[in-house]
This record gives sequence, C-alpha cells and structure tokens, in this order.
Amino acid sequence: MKKIGILLVVAFFAFSCKKEVESKPEVVVKTPKHLTGEFANVKFDNEKDFYCGMDVSMGVSDTAHYKGKVYGFCAKVCKDEFLKTPEKYLAKK
Ligand SMILES: [Zn+2]
Repeated sequence: MKKIGILLVVAFFAFSCKKEVESKPEVVVKTPKHLTGEFANVKFDNEKDFYCGMDVSMGVSDTAHYKGKVYGFCAKVCKDEFLKTPEKYLAKK
C-alpha cells in the first residue's frame, strides 16, 4: 500500500506540474515582422525606434533612409517624427 501512496504523490506532482505549465499566462507567439515581412533581410542602423524607444528587433513596419543609413520604425508616425528633426534624435544616440 505504501508504494501506491508514493506513486499517487508522484503522479499528483507530475500532474500539478504539468497543469502549472499549461496555466501560465497566455503568450501569443508572433513571428516578428522583420523575420517574415518586407524588411526580412534589412539590417537597420538603429537598435531602437528613435521616437518611441521600441527595440527594432520587435518588428518594424516602416523605414527611413537618412544619410546613407537605414533606420527602422515600428510605425509611420515614429518615422515621421524622426524625419522632422533627425539630427536631434541622432545626437541622442
Ligand atoms: Zn515607434
């Protein structure tokens, strides 16, 4: 009987462990745009969106070419803001 008890405990932990994994907060796995989209093979000269600070590796939906460099932005709004005063943002780098 003792063995069965141990087995039950083991089974319980195995089960509860599995359950824990399954009940983790939902993580929606999206393939970053830069890996699939039109900018898949583009190497950006900025690591972060100058305007909003978002990491460009998270996905880029717009790019700006400025003085021979290619900068990625998460949105057109960010690109437009950057292009208004690019020097200001580049100086911060
Ligand atoms: Zn942005």
